[in-house]
Amino acid sequence: MYTVVGGGIAGLAAAYRLRSRGHEVRVFEASDAVGGLAALYDTAGDPIERFYHHLSRSEETIVELADELGVGDRLEWRIGENAYYLDGVVHPLDKPWEILAYPGMSLYDKLRLALLTQGIDVRGGRPRFGTYDDLADFEDVPVREFIVEHTTQGVYDGFFEPLLDAKFGDRVDDVSAAWLLGRVKFRGERDLLRGEVLGYFDGSVAVLLDALVDAVGEDVITTNARVTGLDAGPGGVESVTVETDAGTETHDTDGVVVAAMPNVLTDLTGYTCAIDFQGAVCAVVTLDEPLTDTYWLNVADDAPFGALIEHTNFVPPERYGGDHLLYVASYVQSPDEPNWTDDDAALRERWLAGIEDLFPAFDRGAVSAFRIARNPRAAPVYERGYRDAIVPTDLAAAGSPGVYYAGMASRAQYPERSLNGGIVAGFEAADAAVGRTDAAVDRADAAADRAIDADG
Ligand SMILES: Cc1cc2nc3c(=O)[nH]c(=O)nc-3n(C[C@H](O)[C@H](O)[C@H](O)COP(=O)(O)OP(=O)(O)OC[C@H]3O[C@@H](n4cnc5c(N)ncnc54)[C@H](O)[C@@H]3O)c2cc1C
Repeated sequence: MYTVVGGGIAGLAAAYRLRSRGHEVRVFEASDAVGGLAALYDTAGDPIERFYHHLSRSEETIVELADELGVGDRLEWRIGENAYYLDGVVHPLDKPWEILAYPGMSLYDKLRLALLTQGIDVRGGRPRFGTYDDLADFEDVPVREFIVEHTTQGVYDGFFEPLLDAKFGDRVDDVSAAWLLGRVKFRGERDLLRGEVLGYFDGSVAVLLDALVDAVGEDVITTNARVTGLDAGPGGVESVTVETDAGTETHDTDGVVVAAMPNVLTDLTGYTCAIDFQGAVCAVVTLDEPLTDTYWLNVADDAPFGALIEHTNFVPPERYGGDHLLYVASYVQSPDEPNWTDDDAALRERWLAGIEDLFPAFDRGAVSAFRIARNPRAAPVYERGYRDAIVPTDLAAAGSPGVYYAGMASRAQYPERSLNGGIVAGFEAADAAVGRTDAAVDRADAAADRAIDADG
């Protein structure tokens, strides 16, 4: 019997893999529902993720899993249009002519940006390919320095700075160029005439979560159950301690997959992870009319939030009873920031005022709901040297045999954490756990064979 700590996508994927390989498994989830960061709200129609979610075309494991679970036909590929808000104007930024018309960069800056995204290094006046192939070469290079050296100051100021500011705030100088290059490669298909192709489940990620729960078995998943301790014998972990509404329970186990943030791993095993996390605050605003006509609006002007993501310009409002749904989102670097310290009423007031500043015609009367989700560990800060801090899948060499890690500090969650990365991390941890058990069984069989040979 294996134990999975955490019922987010990574924990459910690990449990599914363990069951598919014929092993018994139990999942303990500390909160009252599975889903973790992909938890949902109800709407007048389909549910919607509390934090905005879409898939990239470059992600394959989630597509294969959806097919395997019989919900592949619910995955839709849609166009998610991007725009920049600059000097009071929304500038669409997907099609070549829109990019050419964007006033935030010169033509030369745009050319240098395009060459970088195609992996072409033109420093020294001669095009070179392959400079950016090995991300490890850029692991210790600060992202700002890299952009200015490999493109132009104008590309940094006019394009990357607002994005990096929204994503990392005052931590930007810690971020590595390897992360940026990984992100450029991670981004999926672009339709030259229409924009970026992004995936979304018809019915939200709940479609995949429900299919996973069905495949794993609802009876083996316990919610409101926090794993608080592991007990190890000479051969590795032997039991887990779980706090539930009914009290403290102890369960024997053959191995444990920790599919939660690294601080949970620290509490359970003492393993320390050097990766820093940033928080996120995200509101889903229900409106009876659209605010913009774009999906993803980066805000280069001053605003109390990082981005406005109008979900119903990506998935039609008819799916939500005709309501328009807008995410207002901000990452948080420090617990002292107003976006973290404000209570719901104060945040709502400040963010609606921020929208009014950007869009003077915005009518607060159009807002029928303003729901806020906060998470203190929403994404890693991809600092220089990040890859050395990644938590290994198998914790045996770190002194915890029988413990496997599938949380957000896993290798599979770099250069960008995602649902797909969570599934890969869950699969890798489950495979490592099974591999170790199978190896132990093989060793025991071989020892038994030797004993029989010696007897006989
Ligand atoms: C703002 C935001 C935007 C995002 N956008 C996208 C996107 O567009 N596309 C995309 O693919 N991904 C996106 N993601 C990332 C995606 O949500 C995550 O990568 C993924 O959900 C992580 O899953 P996980 O299972 O590793 O962790 P989590 O979802 O954090 O799950 C961990 C679970 O463990 C539980 N837990 C913790 N401690 C214990 C314990 N001691 N015992 C039992 N249970 C415990 C927690 O309650 C939680 O449910 C986004 C995330 C955020 C925050």
